[in-house]
Amino acid sequence: MSNEIKPCPFCEGDPAPLDENNHTSCTNVACGSTAYMHVDAWNNRPTMEAYARIEELEAELGGWLPIDMAPTNGERVDIWLEPHDAFESGNAHRRANAYFQRGEWWFQGNRGHDVSASYHWRVTHFMPLPSPPTGAA
Ligand SMILES: [Zn+2]
Repeated sequence: MSNEIKPCPFCEGDPAPLDENNHTSCTNVACGSTAYMHVDAWNNRPTMEAYARIEELEAELGGWLPIDMAPTNGERVDIWLEPHDAFESGNAHRRANAYFQRGEWWFQGNRGHDVSASYHWRVTHFMPLPSPPTGAA
């Protein structure tokens, strides 16, 4: 493991020296980031340019993002499905609460079982789940 600590991804400011838990934070008091995290996570944060590109793409695609930017850690997202050319599987559509596992996308099918999206569909885009209604439990 390298001991290098990258500059703050938000302001390019100097990171604090690692504490006893190998955590760091930004030392620039003018920086909006209050992140305090392990050096491995710190060094792997998306850069400001990456965040800007994500916002640009979201605007371009009406809130959708290319599937290759989707989380693959099992986090639930909405996905956009296009039918494979060889199948008559209906029109392109959205599936809510999908997740990535064992190398493919899954969603809950009509009978309550989780269904692999790749069987009939090509997953092309995703978007984060909407927030629950204000005041919902
Ligand atoms: Zn900073």
